[in-house]
Amino acid sequence: MATWLDIPAEENLKKFPTKFTSPCNLASKCYTSDMNKALLIVDAQIDFCPGGGYPVPDGDKVIESLNKLIAHANKNRWKIFASRDWHKKELFKDKPEKTHCIQNTKGAEYHPDLKISKNIPIISKGSNELGEKHYSAFNGDSISLNKLLKKNNINEVYIGGLALDYCVKGTAIDSSRLGYTTYVIKEATKPVKTSSEDVYGDLRKKGIKVVSLDEVVN
Ligand SMILES: [Zn+2]
Repeated sequence: MATWLDIPAEENLKKFPTKFTSPCNLASKCYTSDMNKALLIVDAQIDFCPGGGYPVPDGDKVIESLNKLIAHANKNRWKIFASRDWHKKELFKDKPEKTHCIQNTKGAEYHPDLKISKNIPIISKGSNELGEKHYSAFNGDSISLNKLLKKNNINEVYIGGLALDYCVKGTAIDSSRLGYTTYVIKEATKPVKTSSEDVYGDLRKKGIKVVSLDEVVN
């Protein structure tokens, strides 16, 4: 009797369907390996942490979780990208109270405890812009994050950073809109003024998965 190996490929599915049944129900899930995943760290900068120019309450508490995500990403060979607010000083001429992340200042540096490699791509944003457009890491000044993700065959994006209700939200919405399966990790982000639960609700409505750190790192 013929075995499935003796039969041309196109006949196999008809005659021996069970041999080819995918082990998981979601076909798309099966084609996502760790090679297709990226960690995106949004604006984990000194100015967004307590003591900085435009602090997020408990903003520094996200660093430990971000470091766990970085370690997980490195171990599993995910790609890692980071964004940063990178404003020109003159943008704040009329609103000095909002001054944050001015290019080449201490406040624009990443939090000193963030264990981020110097070799990863950094997406600077907001050089000439303070409006809503600068919230998203997909609106980089000179780097297209979308092109970078496509070039690296990424289809799943895991996001953490500051602040949840501005740049993390803007980035996650763009990521999902552009077709990436998008996760926001609760412990790795904090809001400035909206309640976390309200933002999670908005994100979920857009198809973004809001998950706990231990659902990602194990
Ligand atoms: Zn900004």
